[in-house]
Amino acid sequence: MTSTSVFSALAPYGWDEAWADAFAPYESEGLLPGRVVRVDRGQCDVVTADGTLRADTAFVTPHDPLRVLCTGDWAVVEPAGTPRYVRSYLPRRTAFVRSTSSKRSEGQILAANVDHAIIAVSLAVELELGRIERFLALAWESGAQPVVVLTKADLVPDAVTLSHLVEDVQATAPGVPVLTVSAQDGDGLDVLSAVVSGGTSVLLGQSGAGKSTLANALVGADVMTVHTTRDVDGKGRHTTTTRNLLALPGGGVLIDTPGLRGVGLWDAGVGVGQVFSEIEALAERCRFQDCAHESEPGCAVLAALDSGELSERRLESYRKLIRENQRIVAKTDARLRAEIRKDWKKKGAQGKAAMEAKRGSWR
Ligand code: GDP
Ligand code: ZN
Repeated sequence: MTSTSVFSALAPYGWDEAWADAFAPYESEGLLPGRVVRVDRGQCDVVTADGTLRADTAFVTPHDPLRVLCTGDWAVVEPAGTPRYVRSYLPRRTAFVRSTSSKRSEGQILAANVDHAIIAVSLAVELELGRIERFLALAWESGAQPVVVLTKADLVPDAVTLSHLVEDVQATAPGVPVLTVSAQDGDGLDVLSAVVSGGTSVLLGQSGAGKSTLANALVGADVMTVHTTRDVDGKGRHTTTTRNLLALPGGGVLIDTPGLRGVGLWDAGVGVGQVFSEIEALAERCRFQDCAHESEPGCAVLAALDSGELSERRLESYRKLIRENQRIVAKTDARLRAEIRKDWKKKGAQGKAAMEAKRGSWR
């Protein structure tokens, strides 16, 4: 297989010059590049120029959960072997991470190399700007460009109301494109299609926001049936696999996984700052560097609140997200501290055993 044909086979999955450069050192070893469409139980499905292959993930499942191979990664795969192994994966451009709740607060990687985070928000129910802000924080934190898609526009009674709703969302989402679509009428789908055609996208949003409907519209078929593709494995057997990553007919790639759909809590310190960029900009002008914007003199944030430049709701939302983020960070740290203690105890016990063994030999 020439590198030109590899290029044309993988381009629909997002392969570009920069990925080819990153892969170059492996090429001379005869290894294959491929995009991970699914990972489960020690195995993964990888789209390569030779078709979809099944490979073992033993070498790319390190202890650190954030470094485990995931959907969207560009894998470096062995050309043959039983099993065939994924040797490595190319450095990620972006990564969606969930801070897992209560039990193990160590984060979980949900998707890699995502360019656009499409945040679906239903116009059939009252807008909850705070919820949009949470999704925006998650998106910014991942490194992807967020795009808010207001769905079910056909349910908004008139154009004036619609444009007011769009303005509200635009004010909440500085630097973020806001689109309206109706899957029912097909309105706005062409614009969305064009946005997602340049890169890899994920769909985020509350249940019922219209994500499946959008996915079906973008794929141009019922994703549930598209998801179940029959691939021939190495032994010539047909196996049914669920694809979490699809090349779209209009260009671009869509990643849609149950994990991403259910994403809720996160550790988004940087993301929060980007969602509330105007508050962070105001804070730069506060007299004290560590201003908490509560009652400090010379606080530019409180001054903006007084003048009406900044809304109470927005500041409250900012505070809430910061608090939530701090709780997650604190929990993670507590877990880390517990780990370290456990480690020291183990070392202590080993040390004691070694001492006793020595003593025994003295006797
Ligand atoms: P998901 O949970 O985010 O995947 O949402 P779904 O795609 O399942 O959509 C939830 C509901 O909204 C379904 O009953 C859809 O038929 C409906 N829906 C989705 N898009 C539109 C739209 O553009 N217009 C209208 N009127 N209903 C829609
Ligand atoms: Zn302040």
